[in-house]
Amino acid sequence: MAALGIHTWRDLLFYFPRDYQDRRTISPIAQACEGEVVIVEAEVSEMRAMRLRGRSNMARGVLKDASGSIAATWFGQGYLARVLTPGKRAIFFGLVGKYKGLCLQHPEFELLTGDEDDLLHTGRIVPIYKLTEGVTQRMLRAWVRSALDALSEPLAETLPKSLRKAYALPKISPAIRAVHFPDSLETAREARDRFAYEELLGIQLGILSERAHRREETKPNRHIVDGSHLQALRDTLPFTLTQGQQQAVQDILEDLDSPRPMARLLQGDVGCGKTAVALHAIAAAADGGYQTALMAPTEILAEQHYATLHVALEPLGLRVELLTGSTPDAYSAREAIADGRAEVIIGTHALIQDRIEFHKLGLAVIDEQHRFGVVQRSALVEKGLMPDMLHMTATPIPRTLAITVYGGMELSIIQELPPGRQPIKTRRITPAKLEGMYGYIREQAEAGLQTYYVCPLVEASEKKQLADVTSFYDELVAGPLHDLRLGLLHGRLRPEEKEVVMLAFKNGELDVLVSTSVIEVGIDVPTATTMVIEDASQFGLTQLHQLRGRIGRGEHLSHCFLLGKPKTKDGAERLRVLCEHTSGFDIAEADLKLRGPGEFRGVRQAGLSDLRIADLIRDVRLLDRARQDAQAILNADPSLAAPGYEALRAAAERFESFTA
Ligand code: ADP
Ligand code: MG
Repeated sequence: MAALGIHTWRDLLFYFPRDYQDRRTISPIAQACEGEVVIVEAEVSEMRAMRLRGRSNMARGVLKDASGSIAATWFGQGYLARVLTPGKRAIFFGLVGKYKGLCLQHPEFELLTGDEDDLLHTGRIVPIYKLTEGVTQRMLRAWVRSALDALSEPLAETLPKSLRKAYALPKISPAIRAVHFPDSLETAREARDRFAYEELLGIQLGILSERAHRREETKPNRHIVDGSHLQALRDTLPFTLTQGQQQAVQDILEDLDSPRPMARLLQGDVGCGKTAVALHAIAAAADGGYQTALMAPTEILAEQHYATLHVALEPLGLRVELLTGSTPDAYSAREAIADGRAEVIIGTHALIQDRIEFHKLGLAVIDEQHRFGVVQRSALVEKGLMPDMLHMTATPIPRTLAITVYGGMELSIIQELPPGRQPIKTRRITPAKLEGMYGYIREQAEAGLQTYYVCPLVEASEKKQLADVTSFYDELVAGPLHDLRLGLLHGRLRPEEKEVVMLAFKNGELDVLVSTSVIEVGIDVPTATTMVIEDASQFGLTQLHQLRGRIGRGEHLSHCFLLGKPKTKDGAERLRVLCEHTSGFDIAEADLKLRGPGEFRGVRQAGLSDLRIADLIRDVRLLDRARQDAQAILNADPSLAAPGYEALRAAAERFESFTA
């Protein structure tokens, strides 16, 4: 039971069925027709285990009830002959097929023992629970039944009457009974929805009151949003901002100008130009004499940001400093950060070390924010006095999730890519087409265009991965790509070495960059037009999309080639989704469907997998409603002090730290 998360009676009551089976209409065997799914209550009259060709076996027998009899077969499950011995009674559920006459194929079954307990398992709508080893449906049903019977008084109501009335929701005690042993599938659904709504409402109350608290705060720093640095940036930027970028910049400048601390999430697909937006915020902060810290998840990414920001900001007279775990002269960098000579500080986790002190940190930008945990993000906040926070992510969280996970942040979304980009063409490459692919890479190289060659993600040690990518590189150099200039990049290189390789690739001195997935986020080389991903199905969908986002960044047509045969059905499905879709939004939706919200990247750390009842895909409407109601409730009663709100207040407090 502990394996199912059930430790108390209450846990048991709130262990909801995953499904129901309507056993009210048990059909007489005589009425079974081929092609139908039936439920019969029958006695086993014959049963044998039979050996088939090879090593497989089967159980085959005859079931009978008052109306007649029917054969039943279970391929590969000969042992069932020892379970379903003649004379045993059971409920059988399955498809009627034909195998030497009418036959129940592989029916699920549940033994009946002949005691009155059987009434729990037949002749009604029965709950089907998720099980674990050693626990059967029958056991769980009986335990839940006795837990319900042992409830001498009704459970304390957790939803205020006004809300129950408004939506005609059942009271808690009848609802909990109906969840487990409903009279109809309709009452089961109503009861379940009540609890799902309640759960979502608790979360939304937590998120929204957190946000309300933040809005009451006043930050000590006020920024200048029409200063000279910002103007100079606008004058020197080599391109015109897209509509989405302009809107995001405007949102951010309004936040900076406001007396309340900013907490904004900038969401936009890979390559949409979030960095350019961040530049505006940085320039505005600098206009008021404030430092900005930009934290990126990897050294390579931090270095690239450093290069970009350096080029854009030094001409404005701003000093940009890089601080990562391997910055050679960290001491003087720290000095410059502490005394304020460094105005823009780019770095990795190294930025949140204790010994780093900022002179006047007014803005914190967190790139690829899903890569950081809540603790790391707030550690950066603490380095300043309520600095404004800009989070950036290329993971396009579907709307249903966004209002839950990021419910406490304001959201700016960049929908479009800069003009002139061509959609990336993605294809799977079978061994027969490999030669053609190498030829294509060579042609691209002749035209001055480059290729990323991403090596498989090996689960084993980092050492193993290193060995893999190195031997891959050796093979390519010796074999199919011997006439091209190849570079090698992986996480084990020293930072200077990485920089040398990246720079060479960026400057077009390398045709092919063989790499591990370290290039996954943020790297920006517009002349790289081809990506090969070895053993592609080993990567997650979002990760594949991020990888692919490294190409298609210039005006050239880009191709992504997926190699390797998927080992699982899900793996094949991921590759199919990737070939068909280019929008990160569609991919995120598909990912959500494939993996479920609990697995969604960045969501686990936010605690969303704690959702016990609600389902973020199926319960969109409930979620919207919960959101609106939560807002209305807080407007009227910000501290949830009214009688009847005790349980919701407790739930809200649990979730309040959700997005902090
Ligand atoms: P991401 O949002 O994935 O972080 P980047 O900020 O790295 O994207 O930008 C991707 C590329 O697009 C960069 O080379 C950048 O210079 C370029 N870019 C950004 N905005 C525009 C624009 N409005 N017009 C043209 N190119 C742009
Ligand atoms: Mg980026």
